[in-house]
Amino acid sequence: MKIGFVGLGHMGAPMARNLLKAGHSLVVYDVVQRNVDALKAAGAGAANSAARAADDAELVVTMLPSSPHVKTVYLGNDGVLAGVAPGVTLIDSSTIDPHTAREVAVLAAEHGNPMADAPVSGGTGGAEAGTLTFMVGGDAGVFEKIAPVLRHMGKNIVHCGESGTGQVAKICNNLLLGITMIGVSEAMNLGTALGIDAKVLAGIINTSSGRCWSSDTYNPYPGVMENVPAARGYTGGFGADLMLKDLGLAVDAAKLSKQPAMLGALAQQLYQLFSAQGAGGQDFSAIINLYRHQS
Ligand code: NAD
Repeated sequence: MKIGFVGLGHMGAPMARNLLKAGHSLVVYDVVQRNVDALKAAGAGAANSAARAADDAELVVTMLPSSPHVKTVYLGNDGVLAGVAPGVTLIDSSTIDPHTAREVAVLAAEHGNPMADAPVSGGTGGAEAGTLTFMVGGDAGVFEKIAPVLRHMGKNIVHCGESGTGQVAKICNNLLLGITMIGVSEAMNLGTALGIDAKVLAGIINTSSGRCWSSDTYNPYPGVMENVPAARGYTGGFGADLMLKDLGLAVDAAKLSKQPAMLGALAQQLYQLFSAQGAGGQDFSAIINLYRHQS
């Protein structure tokens, strides 16, 4: 397929490479020229705007930082809708708020272009290995059409429902992840301050009712597990600022839909404090240091 790909950052570049490896022909665009040049060296064609990346495409994929970038790239003067032919399907894999996802999809539909939101989980490792999970919102017909292409970038491709529900799934999962990481941090810190060995406590939690992914797969307490960011000074992994962004999306969505999200709002504030202290570049499990440095 001829695919227009816009947004060649940490996630977009390896995803685009996997599409090339699968035999698709790509025309790519990014505001950072060296990101375009790197993909050109891998065999992609280069465009000088999102509109030009889309104008000859049979499918368009975007992977951008956040909602304002998605609006600019789709709706701007040099944006995707200004170049793309009616009938071509559009996929936005950025993590953005569900309201913006639906708004852009409605405008795309008015232009004659079916659109799916398809945010991912799995991080840069998953993007490189082609093992991402895609959470797809859009019509069933659109899902059937795009799933084979998404399988060249991911392993687990899930249809979540109508437009926007991919983003809903993504932000609800990360809301819970942020909250459980803080909960595990609090419990581990309290237990060790009260005199129990961290590994013993984690072992009890992981075979008891407090067990969760933040505890048994990604424990934030140093020395409890190997091969997690806590074992390497909180480098690599999923950045605290990305968690802050996702919690902000969840809290904003809760506000717009008048739903209570009390723990999410507190988690967002704790990550905000952590980021303001200059730690936003660390892995999100380093939030435990908010507790440990005070003890
Ligand atoms: P990134 O900042 O590395 O990449 C974004 C790219 O978009 C950059 O190369 C940037 O130059 C480009 N861009 C920005 N504005 C543009 C415009 N107007 N036109 C063209 N290109 C433009 O971000 P990332 O880490 O690749 O993440 C992308 C999305 O995926 C985000 O929404 C993020 O929340 C989500 N995500 C990231 C991870 C992760 O581990 N990095 C995991 C899951 C989901």
